[in-house]
Amino acid sequence: MAPLTLLRGVDAYAPAPLGRKDILLGGDRILAIEDHVPVPQGVEVRVVEGAGLRAIPGLIDAHTHLTGGGGEGGAETRVPNMTVEGFRRAGVTTAVGLLGTDCTTRSIGELLACARGLEAQGLRTFIYTGGYTVPPRTLTGSVREDIVHVDRIIAVGETAISDHRSSQPTFDELVRLAADAHVAGMMTKKAGLLHLHLGDGSRKLELVRRALTETELPPRVFHPTHCNRNRPLWEDAKRLSRLGCTIDVTAFDADGDAPDAAGAFLEWRADGLDPSRLTISSDGGGCLPTFDADGVLLHMDVGSSETLLAAVRALVAEGIPLGDALAPMTSNVARLFRFRDRGELQVGRLADVVLLDDRWSVVTI
Ligand code: ZN
Repeated sequence: MAPLTLLRGVDAYAPAPLGRKDILLGGDRILAIEDHVPVPQGVEVRVVEGAGLRAIPGLIDAHTHLTGGGGEGGAETRVPNMTVEGFRRAGVTTAVGLLGTDCTTRSIGELLACARGLEAQGLRTFIYTGGYTVPPRTLTGSVREDIVHVDRIIAVGETAISDHRSSQPTFDELVRLAADAHVAGMMTKKAGLLHLHLGDGSRKLELVRRALTETELPPRVFHPTHCNRNRPLWEDAKRLSRLGCTIDVTAFDADGDAPDAAGAFLEWRADGLDPSRLTISSDGGGCLPTFDADGVLLHMDVGSSETLLAAVRALVAEGIPLGDALAPMTSNVARLFRFRDRGELQVGRLADVVLLDDRWSVVTI
């Protein structure tokens, strides 16, 4: 492979629109973004003609089950590992992996090994320690030590609340986890978040709201996800964002009158909520189950990161500028997770540039 790559005349989005640009990549970094970058001399350069292509920051999918989720309908419903090809097709360059319901037969060690395997094949990865349960599944026995000592571990989650599959954590247990994540994040400059799986339970975000009034923990620490899974939860999540929390919605098919990811974005905008406080993740590799009243699994789908670009495409079709539609899965995630080297096309950042053709397919170069 040539040491330098020059993307010529691409329609660039930082995610804010930059117009037609030449982008020079080398040493795994963005070296230049200019109207015209002359072909560097004395070194091998691969020139890619970018006419008709859009260049966007690689998507950051902050909720993926790298080892596969599932297992809620018996061992035969365990989902297999995610593949690097799947992420590539989806335009995802950084995936944050986690354990879900099944953190009993699956472990943080297995998740870490899986993340390392994907990393060796060209995907950038991080992981959460924990899983649905409290006390959480960890590598070292402590959430704080996992985050402080293991480079790839950056936060805790997806800790389940308001769900029949949760450990029914108490308020004290939950804020202890959040505090450990927060302090470990400060010590390491990592995300230091408590990423919360929200179920269909009527308590919704009650525990988080209580944490914001009764403890000193800053709102940024709490990152609830699946907030668009039903209408009452979604309304509660929008209210919570006004207290400073960033809200994550999942790019899945929503039930009833709950919005899908694109619909959630449109409502967020219509309600005048802070656009930087919305993130979208895929739940890729996770199971999307339907249960009966006794908690028996009736039906299960598997999530995919490809739903992220599908949501962007749906938003653009609704007249949303592409840069705005990209923010919840690029710059917004990067800001919340303290990823200073990605999430935006900017000189000096990682060369995680994704090219899209006019049919929204990812073009591999
Ligand atoms: Zn979940």
